[in-house]
Amino acid sequence: MTERAVTVHNQSGQHEIVLICEHASAYIPAQFENLGLDKSAALSHVAWDPGAAATARHLANGLNAVLIEGAVSRLVYDCNRPPESPGAMPQRSELYDIPGNANISTVDRQARIDHYYRPFEAQVSKTLASHHHSAVLVTIHSFTPIYNGEKRDVEIGILHDDDPALADAILKVASGYNIQRNQPYGPEDGVTHTLKLHGLANGLSNVMIEIRNDLIQTDAQCFAMAAHLQQWLTEALSRLPRSAARNTGANR
Ligand SMILES: [Zn+2]
Repeated sequence: MTERAVTVHNQSGQHEIVLICEHASAYIPAQFENLGLDKSAALSHVAWDPGAAATARHLANGLNAVLIEGAVSRLVYDCNRPPESPGAMPQRSELYDIPGNANISTVDRQARIDHYYRPFEAQVSKTLASHHHSAVLVTIHSFTPIYNGEKRDVEIGILHDDDPALADAILKVASGYNIQRNQPYGPEDGVTHTLKLHGLANGLSNVMIEIRNDLIQTDAQCFAMAAHLQQWLTEALSRLPRSAARNTGANR
């Protein structure tokens, strides 16, 4: 297992926002033999978040922000799950059993944690430290329009855990889509691992943005979505009450 676990886009980005895309890639390293999945399943939304990385890269470029992407499929290791979670190496995802995850030995499990999760997590920690721990954490995801046979009406989800401030501010300024709080998932589904580990634990403003993937299929759509997100995030941040530490700036 020598593959790169993490990709950093626009590493020198100066914006206070640090972007994270845990499910950026469908890449399954060769030794996992597609985890026993046929080709269409191995490239479907169960393996990654289609459109999320492309949208996040446009957003990173627009903001001049750093973007940290997971470089392997979430079916190999889901970097938005802690090692002890069954969802970290799921045996089943929506309609698919994942044969290659059915009976992972303790040694192989630990190897996946060491080779894919730890480097990803370390990169996020390092990047936040380089921002002097005053960053704003924004994670970008996509979700399937039809889940377990049911159509989803929500188009954009603004998700948060115990600190809703940034999500609240975005929900006030965002418009033009069916935008919902903590949909189609919420903290109870275990999707706020990155927000808790790197955002809440460090006292950083944080939010998770879920985009329905039929809205970000082409590069032009990803670009347009990124422009909306940039506008909403910029406006939301300007309205966000800042900590005392942040306010000791030039305007005093
Ligand atoms: Zn995701």
